[in-house]
Amino acid sequence: MWDKITYAAWFIIGTIFGSFANVLIYRPIAGLKLTEPRFSVCPTCRRRIEWYDNIPLISFIILKGKCRHCGTKISPRYPLVEFVFGLSFLINHILFPIDVALCLDAVFLVSIPAVFTDFKLMLLPDYTWITILIVGIYTNVTYFRQFMILDIIGGLISLSVLLFLRMRYKDGIGEGDLFLLPVYSFAVGFMFMPFLMLSASIGGIIYSTVRRNKVIPFGPFIIFFGYSLFFLRLFTSFRIV
Ligand SMILES: [Zn+2]
Repeated sequence: MWDKITYAAWFIIGTIFGSFANVLIYRPIAGLKLTEPRFSVCPTCRRRIEWYDNIPLISFIILKGKCRHCGTKISPRYPLVEFVFGLSFLINHILFPIDVALCLDAVFLVSIPAVFTDFKLMLLPDYTWITILIVGIYTNVTYFRQFMILDIIGGLISLSVLLFLRMRYKDGIGEGDLFLLPVYSFAVGFMFMPFLMLSASIGGIIYSTVRRNKVIPFGPFIIFFGYSLFFLRLFTSFRIV
C-alpha cells in the first residue's frame, strides 16, 4: 500500500517537473527570458494563468484544452510532456535506488527541453551539459569507480573526434554538441560510448537527408541515445547483476 502511494507521488512530482519543462521549452522558442514574466500567461490574450488553471494534466482536462479567458486552444504538447515526465519519474523510482533515480530524473529534465530547442532553434542550453556532467561524475564516483579512467578516456575520445570534425567542416558541428557528446560519452561509460557516437551520427545524418537540411541537428540524437544508454548502463548494473 505504502509503495503504491510513494509511486503515485513520484508520478505527480514528475508531472510537476514536466510542467516546468514546458516553460523551458516554450520560453526560448517564443523569444522570452526564462525568468520573466514571473508567472505564466496565455500566449494569445496575455492574461495571467492562475495556479488552479496550471495544475499538470488536470487543468488541461477541466479547461477542455482551451484558455479560460479567450478560448484559444492549448497545445496538446503541454499535457503530453507532463504525462511523459510523470511516467519517466515513476519508472525511475520503481527500478532504482533513490539517488540513482534522482540522477536519471535530473538528466531527463534537462534533456527534453534541449531536444525541442535544438530542433527549433539549433540551440542546446548550457544547463543541459553541465547537469549531465555533474550527474555523470556522481554516478561514476559512487558506482563505477573502477571504470573511471576508461570513462574519462571515452569522453576525451569523443571530444577529440568532434574537435577534428569541427576543424575540417567548419559549420558541421555546433558548439552545443561539442559539450553534450563528450559529457554523455563519459556518463554512459567506455563500453557504450562507441554505440552513442555511431547511433547519434547515423540518426543525425538520416534526419538531415530526409528533411534536406544542410545543418545537422545532432543534439536531439545525442540526447535520445545518450539518455537511453545511460539508463541501460544503470539498469544492467542495478537490475541484472
Ligand atoms: Zn487566452
